[in-house]
Amino acid sequence: MKAPAKSSGSSSPAVSTPEARAVADPGPEPGERDRLDLFALLAEHEHEQVSVYYDPSTGYRGIIAIHSTVLGPALGGTRFWSYPSDEAALIDCLRLARGMTYKAAVAGLNLGGGKSVIIGDNSTARREALFRAHGRHVESLKGRYITAEDVGTSTSDMEYIKAETNHVTGLIGRSGDPSPVTAYGVYRGMKACARYRYDSDSLAGKAVALQGCGSVGYHLAKLLFAEGADITCTDIDPRRVKRVVEECGAKAVASDAIYDVRANIFAPCALGAVINDDTVQRLQVEIVAGAANNQLAEDRHGDLLERRGITYAPDYVINGGGLINVNAELHGWAPERARSKAGEIYDTLLRVFEIAREERVPSYQAADRLAEQRIASIAQVRRNFV
Ligand code: NAD
Repeated sequence: MKAPAKSSGSSSPAVSTPEARAVADPGPEPGERDRLDLFALLAEHEHEQVSVYYDPSTGYRGIIAIHSTVLGPALGGTRFWSYPSDEAALIDCLRLARGMTYKAAVAGLNLGGGKSVIIGDNSTARREALFRAHGRHVESLKGRYITAEDVGTSTSDMEYIKAETNHVTGLIGRSGDPSPVTAYGVYRGMKACARYRYDSDSLAGKAVALQGCGSVGYHLAKLLFAEGADITCTDIDPRRVKRVVEECGAKAVASDAIYDVRANIFAPCALGAVINDDTVQRLQVEIVAGAANNQLAEDRHGDLLERRGITYAPDYVINGGGLINVNAELHGWAPERARSKAGEIYDTLLRVFEIAREERVPSYQAADRLAEQRIASIAQVRRNFV
């Protein structure tokens, strides 16, 4: 996700709830930025609620940010990270929670956006009491926030949380690895890009430069191979490259060479910020469509792609399959239903491109608009007491 990752001082458009519009932000006074101004931060990032909890017995220090519950309970993972300051932790939490609101909204899910962080060393072996403290924190919000795994946490940590609250997903033996659903959503999104670009959504004979042959990259390569695409791949792990070369007839290139491959589609499925000042000029493709989060180093790189005539599938739209999988676990969906919902990414992306064309904005901005439209319209429907 890029565009929703609003940071301090950002002027990118934000969710326009009545509450948010009612906040008249006079802007910081000189010198005000030197101290933590909690409510100014909440207003800037347009959040409903932030909860902070400290447990002296375990040293647990946790923040839960609820950006929006207009569409449903705020869902987002727990990030366990050693932040340089409490303010950095809070800003990260706010930024990530806001991104979740947008991701759920464009995926057509009845979920809001939230996120939590636990501040500390995520390699600690003393996890049970810590995650149970976090579980109690989650429980105190009575279902307004639902948590899941994120950086620094695992399914067994979710089991500790589960001992204290039911508002947790990603449990052992439940929805399982989301990567196949994510890969399927990316594949369908790629087909939508082809449709938009070439008037046919067939990927047969299309050249795809695949960066990252991990969980999503591998499953994506299998789908592309089955359709007859011509894959060039890279990964820093040679075993993962070998698997895609052997099973999908791919050619391999060195990590940095992937940006120079002449192809129809560049599929980033490894890291964030791969569309940056260096790479944006090097790409020799017509479409960028992949699973990685935060592909644009900055919003302006989305503008640069647009200027170069490259069709960009906004990351948080095309990689929504992971969230759809979590939603499936929450509602007990059969795997086929999750896959079918991820398949709808095809139509969502076509709608994003239509908005981009009609409103003459880059696709990453069009995606934000689509999310905002859905949130605003549902907020209207639900304004009365029933
Ligand atoms: P993964 O860790 O299984 O795979 C990532 C792969 O990228 C690894 O094989 C790694 O070796 C490789 N890699 C790392 N640095 C690289 C580099 N410089 N050049 C080439 N390859 C490099 O992760 P994943 O689950 O496949 O996820 C891939 C991306 O998609 C991540 O950005 C993730 O946040 C995003 N994403 C994943 C899901 C999901 O369901 N797994 C959902 C949404 C978004």
